[in-house]
Amino acid sequence: MKINKNFLDLEASYLFSTVGRKTREYIAAHPDADVIKLSIGDVTRPLCPAVIDAMHKAVDEMADEKTFRGYPPEHGYDFILDAILQCDYIGRGISMQKDEIFLSDGAKSDCGNIGDIFAVDNTVAICDPVYPVYIDTNVMNGRGKNIIIMPCGEETGFLPELPDESAHTAQNSNTTTAPDIIYLCFPNNPTGAVAPKSYLKKWVDYANAHHSLILFDSAYEAFITDPDIPRSIYEIDGAKTCAIELRSFSKTAGFTGLRCGYTVVPHELVFDGTELNALWGRRQSTKFNGVSYITQRAAEAVYSLEGQKQIQENLSFYRENARLIFEGVTAAGFKAFGGKNSPYVWLQIPEGYTSWSFFDELLDKCQVVGTPGSGFGKKGEGYLRLTGFGSRERTIEAIERIKKYFGK
Ligand code: PLP
Repeated sequence: MKINKNFLDLEASYLFSTVGRKTREYIAAHPDADVIKLSIGDVTRPLCPAVIDAMHKAVDEMADEKTFRGYPPEHGYDFILDAILQCDYIGRGISMQKDEIFLSDGAKSDCGNIGDIFAVDNTVAICDPVYPVYIDTNVMNGRGKNIIIMPCGEETGFLPELPDESAHTAQNSNTTTAPDIIYLCFPNNPTGAVAPKSYLKKWVDYANAHHSLILFDSAYEAFITDPDIPRSIYEIDGAKTCAIELRSFSKTAGFTGLRCGYTVVPHELVFDGTELNALWGRRQSTKFNGVSYITQRAAEAVYSLEGQKQIQENLSFYRENARLIFEGVTAAGFKAFGGKNSPYVWLQIPEGYTSWSFFDELLDKCQVVGTPGSGFGKKGEGYLRLTGFGSRERTIEAIERIKKYFGK
């Protein structure tokens, strides 16, 4: 028996475990310290009442022989696919068909699993800094040597530049063509950057011209309030022939513990003479057995009138936290990015610190925990990610401490 040796090529990721360990050690050494975590990328507010009611109802249905449900349809019940179709696409002027939407247990699985339907020798363009799942899953699938890093620094507004046509060179390879697969994530984790329509249009045109595929992760689309910022890649003309969209109920409706998301694969996506929709459908129906009925009813409730109102209250709460953090650290003299149309604030660290040494100082002097930017990639060095997912009171307290210590 031989193992999949690609796993041995994975770089160890100690980011969140090191943040956790350092925090625990600090608390053990300072038992009276009142530590505030602004590092967490997870929601903290409970599921909204409309979702809870729908789940209770679904549980009761499962208890009755007449309404009990067994295996769900692999790609989702009609009631939830119709709700997604109407609310997220048709209702926003985007044409889409129900069988182009595939319900899943979240965007993380889909981000990773989608790689099953692509050839191993494809080149893959990925941003730096980045949500680490894109890199690791490509390494697992044997595409580690085909990764082209797209640096995203302040000089480009944290947006990846379109590949230079004359220098299409994959890391450790001689490839000189356009990347086959391009990962884009907006609003971005970790930088909080958002992509205006005109910018996304350039990527869509580029992908169509080179017959590349865009994987568009819009897990944070619900944080967008600015009408000029698209919430879906399909708001851009031409996207249906070049883009797959990955969506999640996690940050939109607090489903991180419940688990539900969906992936959109339009029929127009044809590569090697084959519809990606058919491949993904086959992949999912073979390896995935569907989302639980109770969770699908919960997701459906997100689209009800009350559900929409209630999730907006939570989203506004997190947005306001992010705004307060942005304003607070700016008032303390830091340069910061994001925090608008996004739950993440990307703090530029003053000269003389690394991401980790600043993390240590923030913990030691303010008892505030952030996430060091270097953990998201080399270009993240010099930054720290703070999130708006905490409580209001603790967020304000953290800002006051930062202002008091660093604002001198
Ligand atoms: N995509 C990005 C950019 C994320 O930051 C996350 C979670 O933090 C996910 C996807 C995963 O979402 P889900 O909870 O749906 O698996």
